[in-house]
Amino acid sequence: MNIEKTQQSECQPRSTIQVEDELGIQFCHRQSIAIERGAGSYVWDETGAKYLDFTSGWGVTCLGHSHPVITDAIVQQANKIIQNPNSGFTYSPARARLLSLLQPLLPDNLRKIYFANSGSEANDAAIKLARKITGKSKVVSSLGSFHGRTFNTLSISLGEENTAKFLPSLTENCFVPFGDIEAIAKAIDKTTAAVILEPIQGEGGVRIPHADYLFEVARLCKLNNALLIIDEIQTGFCRTGSFFEIQNSDRVVAADILTMGKGIAGGFPFAGFAVTDEVSKSLNIGDHGGTFCGNPLGCAVAYAVVDFLISHNIAESVKQMAHHLEAPLQSLKARYPHLIKKLRGRGLLWALELEDDTAVQALTSACLELGLLITPTRGGIVRLIPNLLIDLAQLNEGVAILDRALAKINT
Ligand code: PLP
Repeated sequence: MNIEKTQQSECQPRSTIQVEDELGIQFCHRQSIAIERGAGSYVWDETGAKYLDFTSGWGVTCLGHSHPVITDAIVQQANKIIQNPNSGFTYSPARARLLSLLQPLLPDNLRKIYFANSGSEANDAAIKLARKITGKSKVVSSLGSFHGRTFNTLSISLGEENTAKFLPSLTENCFVPFGDIEAIAKAIDKTTAAVILEPIQGEGGVRIPHADYLFEVARLCKLNNALLIIDEIQTGFCRTGSFFEIQNSDRVVAADILTMGKGIAGGFPFAGFAVTDEVSKSLNIGDHGGTFCGNPLGCAVAYAVVDFLISHNIAESVKQMAHHLEAPLQSLKARYPHLIKKLRGRGLLWALELEDDTAVQALTSACLELGLLITPTRGGIVRLIPNLLIDLAQLNEGVAILDRALAKINT
C-alpha cells in the first residue's frame, strides 16, 4: 500500500464525483448528482437537493426507497445468518419460506425455482441449461431485446451493434424483429435450443407485442423441441399490473423457463429462474451453482417484498395507477406532438418516444434541473418507471415537472 499517496489524498478532500471519475471505471454516461439517501418516492443528493424518482433504479426499487419492510427484513435476517455454511450444500429455512410463497404465484406449469444474484446470471443459466437439455446450440432472440451483459446474454441482446464488439459470440445467435410472428417462425427450426423473449421489451423502449405473439411462439417452440425462455426480469413482480406479465392475458403462455430479477427483492441484489417439471428432470448435480445463489439474506428480503406485493394487492393498485398516469401523459403528447412522437406502456412501465437521443438528453437534463429523475433509453426514448407504491399526488407532481421540462426544451 502506498501510505504517502493515501495520506496525501486524505489531505485534499475531493468530491464524490471527482473520486468516482478518477478511480472508478465508467461504463455509463453519468448524471452529475451524488445520491446520498432515499425514502419512498424521493431521493436526496449530498447537497440536500430532493428529487422525485421516476426510475426505480432501472425498475428495481418496487416498494420505493428504504421501505421498512425491506430494511427490517435485512436487519432481522442479518442478525440470524447471512450466508450458510458450505453455501448451497446446506438447506435454509429462509429459502424454503421464499420457495413456498413464490411457487404458487408462478404460471401453473412452472414448478421449481433456483435463485441467482442478477438478471444476467439467471438468463445466462437458462441459456446454458437449455443447450444442455436439448443438445442444440442455436438461440433465437429479438432485435432491441435486453437480457444482460454476461457473455451468453450479451450475445443475444440488442442486436449486432452490441455483439460485434465482443466477437466471436459465445452463443449461436439469431436476432429477429420483435413481435413479428412470420420472422420468428422462419428462425425457429430443428437446430434451435431456445427462444428467449421479454413479454414486453423494456430496454428496447417498452414495446408491447400483439396479444397472441408469445402464445404462437410457444407453439412453434414445442413443434421444434426448442425451449421457450420468458425473461420477466423487468416486467415481473407487478410492474405491468399482474404478478408476471405473461399472466396478463387469458391465454397463459407455456414458458419452459421463466427468469426473474430486479423487483424481486426491491433493491437487494437477487434474481432467479423457474422451470417446468420436465426441464427440472433433465437437470443434474453440478449443472449450475454459485457461492451467493439463494443466500438466506437475499431470500429473506425477497420474501418480505413478495409478501408485501401479495398482501397489499399491488398488482391491482398498479392497474389503477396506470390509468392515472396514462391520461395526463396522453394530454402531454397532444400538447407537444412535435416532441413526443409516441407514447406506450402498461402498468407503471411507460415510454415516451422523442425525435432522437439529443432530445432525450435535453429532456432528461431539464427534468433533473426541475427535480425529477427519468430513465434515458437508447433509440430516442425516455422511460418512466415509478415505484409501485407511488401515490396520486406524487404521480401528478412528476407529470407536472415533465410538462415544465417539455415546455423548457420546446424552442
Ligand atoms: N433482462 C431484462 C429484461 C432486463 O431489463 C435486464 C436489465 O435491465 C436484465 C435482463 C439484466 O439484469 P441485471 O442487470 O440484473 O443483470
